[in-house]
Amino acid sequence: MDDNIYVLDATVFLEGGAQKFQDLAKATVYEVLEEVKNNQSAIELDRLIRTGLAIIEPENEFFEEIKKFQKTTNDKLSNTDMKVLSLALKFKRQKKKPIIVSDDYAIQNMCKLIDINYMTLSKKGITKKYAWVKKCKNCGRKIKGDVCDVCGDEGKYRPYIRN
Ligand SMILES: [Zn+2]
Repeated sequence: MDDNIYVLDATVFLEGGAQKFQDLAKATVYEVLEEVKNNQSAIELDRLIRTGLAIIEPENEFFEEIKKFQKTTNDKLSNTDMKVLSLALKFKRQKKKPIIVSDDYAIQNMCKLIDINYMTLSKKGITKKYAWVKKCKNCGRKIKGDVCDVCGDEGKYRPYIRN
């Protein structure tokens, strides 16, 4: 077992990824509980609490520090996001090894800024698959050969997202 502490945000429960953390050290904040408890993922939350999920209110000093960091970026963070970050900062100051688990890009950006490790859950079913298509440089028509049938301009490959 590693000595990391996983700091879970609401997306972990809402996307059904909580059971991965059953055997690991983990913590969250009251605000996440509030967001999850009336949701169908409340069952997962219960299960994690029974396997040792700690619910911790981070001291205001950490929250104030996160607020200062947040002002230097334009990332939109909810009060819950800020609390999750505050808890991770508290653990870091206690020389523990927090890893924030979140699929929220604003949280991930903030983690980079304050030098806290983070990980994301795999989002099943919405992986983007890129493909390439050749299009005319001039008119944007799809072309098969080297040049456009209509304007005779050359083609360039462009990425597009397949469904
Ligand atoms: Zn063309």
